[in-house]
Amino acid sequence: MKTLNREVVIIGSGPAGLTAAIYSARANLKPLLIDAPADAEKQTTPGGQLMITTDVENYPGFASGIDGPALMEEFRKQAERFGTEFLEEWITDVDLSERPFQLEMANHIVYAQTLIIATGASAKWLGIPGEAKVPNGFGGHGVSACATCDGPLPGFRNKDLVVVGGGDTAMEEATFLTRYASKVSLVHRRDKLRASKIMQDKALANPKIDFVWNTAIEEILGEPEAGVTGVRLRNLKTEETRVLPSAGVFIAIGHRPNTDLFKGQLDMDEVGYILTAGRTTATNVPGVFACGDVQDSNYRQAVTAAGTGCMAALDAERFLDHLPVAMPGGDEVTMEGEHVTSDHEAIIEPDGSMVPNHPENI
Ligand code: NDP
Repeated sequence: MKTLNREVVIIGSGPAGLTAAIYSARANLKPLLIDAPADAEKQTTPGGQLMITTDVENYPGFASGIDGPALMEEFRKQAERFGTEFLEEWITDVDLSERPFQLEMANHIVYAQTLIIATGASAKWLGIPGEAKVPNGFGGHGVSACATCDGPLPGFRNKDLVVVGGGDTAMEEATFLTRYASKVSLVHRRDKLRASKIMQDKALANPKIDFVWNTAIEEILGEPEAGVTGVRLRNLKTEETRVLPSAGVFIAIGHRPNTDLFKGQLDMDEVGYILTAGRTTATNVPGVFACGDVQDSNYRQAVTAAGTGCMAALDAERFLDHLPVAMPGGDEVTMEGEHVTSDHEAIIEPDGSMVPNHPENI
């Protein structure tokens, strides 16, 4: 077991984590970036969700678009160039009750003066029979949550496939799969799509995509040898059920934030997104900052994740410089535990005493 002490520790290596690393490394804070090894079961992907994307056409600076993995490689090289230290290990426990914060891994204990959480979000599942991983279902044997990773596999070529969901992810996955599949049935629980107009139009105009409206998948059917053979559908208006033959099912119903490690220690919304203070990345624990999809249920874009990664690095730097950082409640707090009240009228010292926040009164 090795012990490491660091000023800035970043968890996560997507656009948010790596941007935080670039900024804090350039500020000479020698950040340590911890990311989990790739693991299909735990859904960990070093580099984040862009690693399972093909063309990224909306990241500024790349007029002709860029491949997701190629973009993340550039992020990583840039973070390395300024001296970011990388550690690839699964964090089993964190203690945020006092500074330095403590992070436990199988081979390391890391003590962090500031912590930047950029653990992102993972795909959601339907929770229906047949969806679980082999041998309990057909997960990995015809059921996938990532068309760009699994769509090109031989088992899906020239076959009829199913995508479930009505958002941008579902449109993107269905459109992508038509490169290989003979037909893609897009199953959606309503008769209106949630996806942006441009993505809807693209999917609706694709002759290989068949929309199945007002319908839920009740069960994924298959055989141990062949994997997925079809889905049992239920029309939510008529209650009619039918079997739709299919060689694969792609679940594209959104994501959930990767925050289990911090439950009970950080304030979160009802879904589990970490709450941050107004225009900053500060969490309710002074010295802990959150950036990227883990604290953003709204925009969830690579460029916004990178933007908040930059903010988190600047917030951590400010905190380490002993300057007050805004907290979710509107007050400000320094590294020494002094609180500036939200009206900026008073400073509450760590021992509870209060002094006016006016230089002329001191
Ligand atoms: P969304 O939350 O936008 O959409 C999820 C979809 O899945 C909805 O249509 C929802 O149905 C459906 N759904 C959710 N739960 C279930 C369930 N249990 N059973 C059946 N259907 C379900 O997630 P996305 O991942 O599509 O998009 C997330 C964000 O990422 C968005 O902001 C999107 O714009 C962005 N994005 C952008 C892309 C791009 O620009 N290239 C590509 C992919 C994502 P209902 O509509 O009824 O709620």
